[in-house]
Amino acid sequence: RRWGWSLAGELRQAAARDPGRTAVVDEHGTELTYQELLDRAERMARSLRTAHGVQAGERIGVLCRNHHGLIETIVAATLLGVDAVLVNTGLSAAQLATVAEEQRLRVLVHDDEFTERVLGLPAELPRLDERAREEMVAGALPGELQPPERDGRIIVLTSGTTGTPKGARRPTPNGFGPLVSIIDRIPLHTRDRVMIAAPIFHTWGFAALQVCFALRATIVLHRRFDPAATLAALVAHRCDALFAVPVMVQRLMEVAPPWPRPQLKVVAVSGSALPGGLATRFMDVYGDVLYNLYGSTEVSWASIAGPAELRAAPTTAGRPPRGTLLRILDAEGRQVPDGQVGRIFVGNEMLFEGYTTGASRESRDGLLDTGDLGRLTPDGLLFVDGRADDMIVSGGENVFPSEVENLLAQLPQVREAAVIGVPDPEYGQRLAAFLALHAGETLDPEAVREYVRHYLARFAVPRDVVFVKYLPRNATGKVLARELRRYYG
Ligand code: ATP
Repeated sequence: RRWGWSLAGELRQAAARDPGRTAVVDEHGTELTYQELLDRAERMARSLRTAHGVQAGERIGVLCRNHHGLIETIVAATLLGVDAVLVNTGLSAAQLATVAEEQRLRVLVHDDEFTERVLGLPAELPRLDERAREEMVAGALPGELQPPERDGRIIVLTSGTTGTPKGARRPTPNGFGPLVSIIDRIPLHTRDRVMIAAPIFHTWGFAALQVCFALRATIVLHRRFDPAATLAALVAHRCDALFAVPVMVQRLMEVAPPWPRPQLKVVAVSGSALPGGLATRFMDVYGDVLYNLYGSTEVSWASIAGPAELRAAPTTAGRPPRGTLLRILDAEGRQVPDGQVGRIFVGNEMLFEGYTTGASRESRDGLLDTGDLGRLTPDGLLFVDGRADDMIVSGGENVFPSEVENLLAQLPQVREAAVIGVPDPEYGQRLAAFLALHAGETLDPEAVREYVRHYLARFAVPRDVVFVKYLPRNATGKVLARELRRYYG
């Protein structure tokens, strides 16, 4: 057997080609070269085997923020042919217990900050905190690692915004396909310096890590996202690129001047919709460097919008990359005409390999149902309207929250906006808008309704306008509609 295309194989390649190049830098300035990172991962792998008897085909859980220890652990797992379950740091203690059981975890590696949250897990599940992890790396017995019988997989958990978190098995794609599909459209280069601010436990951050290994990039990581610290790090490490989620980009825009100005070539965001107006405001300050990728845990990235497309249409998700087929289908599986809304189906070599929990997703002719609704313009630009489940039906009319949110986000007083449907005795559902305003701003609810009435149909006007300090968000920056619904009891 040879080392394949698993994460371990990619790191081995990078270490062989560029051993002395800095692979990871953290917020304290600690650096590891590609060779050091590989050595540490190999030591961790040997210790996992000798101390815990972990075998190929088994699963370990990883509950970590962005730092080299997370990378070492998941590479260690794949070196052994073990699957690494990337656990969302936002899960509650109860959700963690469900995940540990459903995924049949053999070991859980976690950051110290989660020690309390993992206390209630079954006693027979070994939990390794940061000290234990360091001891395993330091105390590993010598030995050679042979390529495992099977490739170790990465299993990404969905965040559970739509129910219990499901484990999605990521494929180990054959060759450069996914990388090519990115660098074909986004000007990233070998040996770039890249900050991954999106959490690596999420598909988008993980994809960024794979791209970085393939490019032998220097990866800058902070455990937590802090906008001012991020700007300082981008400057200090002369970063070429930033991988983030949209709300991070929004937060960068809120850092009070004077702020250090990074010279970025690429700011790539994914994971949730870009709020209306943000792309233009961001590029006016940072230059034409923004890339919006639409995708999900199940389909990876399915479309990419570059700066020119975003200048022309600031909320577009762009076009499918090379090697991806994207179709908008109606309920009978027929392609809908341009401009009409339908269900987004995607086919590429990065489709997930199913949920570990046995749940399934519909597919047609090899294309997977994303669960999202959207439309294509005649020249092939994709607009994502949002999850089909989030569509509001008010008085028999369909309204997409995103349409109203994008409009509200353009009000100068509004920092961020979310719209949900709430039960209504007369209309079935009515719209409720939650607005967080910029410091010192006020707005009259009637003025908000009047503004929406000016642009959209009567049934899209929020009858309820609620002012909040912050919108509740999950670890990847997605607004938690179920938390907003709680406002209504
Ligand atoms: P859950 O399914 O539990 O919410 P999650 O938040 O981990 O899980 P992801 O798979 O990351 O889920 O979410 C993917 C969804 O996010 C897409 O189906 C789409 O609705 C939305 N999304 C992601 N990127 C974009 C984008 N660029 N524009 C619009 N919507 C996006």
